Amino acid sequence: MSDHSPARQVLRLSQKVYYTPSVAAAGIAAHETGHALQDAEDYFPMEARTYIVPVVQLASQIAPWAFVGGLMLQWDTLTWIGVILFGSSFFFALLTLPVEFNASSRAKELLVSHGIIAPDQIEGVDKVLDAAAWTYVAAAVSAVGVWLFYIFMLLGRGRGGATARG
Ligand SMILES: [Zn+2]
Repeated sequence: MSDHSPARQVLRLSQKVYYTPSVAAAGIAAHETGHALQDAEDYFPMEARTYIVPVVQLASQIAPWAFVGGLMLQWDTLTWIGVILFGSSFFFALLTLPVEFNASSRAKELLVSHGIIAPDQIEGVDKVLDAAAWTYVAAAVSAVGVWLFYIFMLLGRGRGGATARG
């Protein structure tokens, strides 16, 4: 479902989607059209996501170095900076959710209002779009999971130290 590229201002569909006359393919095509419309309307979550991409990329490159460096130097501030930078990928995954859900709801509206699919076929579209949406939810959940892992590891380390001393 990553066919749409806002940076290039084009709507690209994989051959499979383009040539398959199925409800699922129509759903995906309409979803991508939904992204194009978001782009055209400067839909805020999408704009925000586009702007933070380079920041997230930079942050996720620095994060492991800050984290490991902080641990090695026993410099807690640096370690926490690493953790906060890791959090940017969680933030990105989270910001993806409204963009994807909105594109899917636009897709359903478009398909029905343009008579591309019959109202009783909407269930099939729901199925394929919901499945795709869940992969984004799963990505967000796993991103927050990784993030919490680092936080708890750091906090646990602090507690472990206190126990050892006490
Ligand atoms: Zn999408």
